[in-house]
Amino acid sequence: MSLAPGNGPVQITQEQLQARISELGHKIRADYAGKEPHLICVLNGAFLFHADLVRTLHMPCTIDFLQASSYGDAKQSSGEVKLVKDLQFPISDRHVILVEDIVDTGITMNYLLHYLQGRGPASLKVAALLSKPSRRKVEVPVEYLGFTIPDAFVYGYGLDRAQFDRNLPFITSQE
Ligand code: 5GP
Repeated sequence: MSLAPGNGPVQITQEQLQARISELGHKIRADYAGKEPHLICVLNGAFLFHADLVRTLHMPCTIDFLQASSYGDAKQSSGEVKLVKDLQFPISDRHVILVEDIVDTGITMNYLLHYLQGRGPASLKVAALLSKPSRRKVEVPVEYLGFTIPDAFVYGYGLDRAQFDRNLPFITSQE
């Protein structure tokens, strides 16, 4: 799904977010029928997406959280990823879905996928609310993608603008 192609501002409403997340939830539920997926939220940006996504699943599942840092308060990635908060629970033999807010260069996701793969999950897939493919430096597989957006800095619905505006119920790129 693609929104706001070209140079226009990105604007994803609360209704569009919920409708798309519900579609992703249905797909996950079908794909993981008979399994108990383990949904790992990448803090802080994915906290609302993760919370809304798990509520659409209506199936046995477990959750955990981790936090990686590469941005600080800047709008440009430093290119270096640090694990700031580790998992609480083991993932060996679990069907893991890594839930991320946005894939930009792909550097963070690539780092996290290698990190999690090393812990022996039964399977490992990615759910990302947003993707900016034009910015990609490392290709990463995103099985469940909410919206493809152009190269613009977006905030709201979990994503921050210098740590503020995460509580906006919509996503925007407007100043
Ligand atoms: P990547 O490593 O893919 O370049 O960056 C991933 C992380 O950068 C995301 O998890 C998010 O925290 C941050 N990021 C990338 N693009 C944006 C953006 O447009 N807005 C905000 N608020 N964060 C972004």
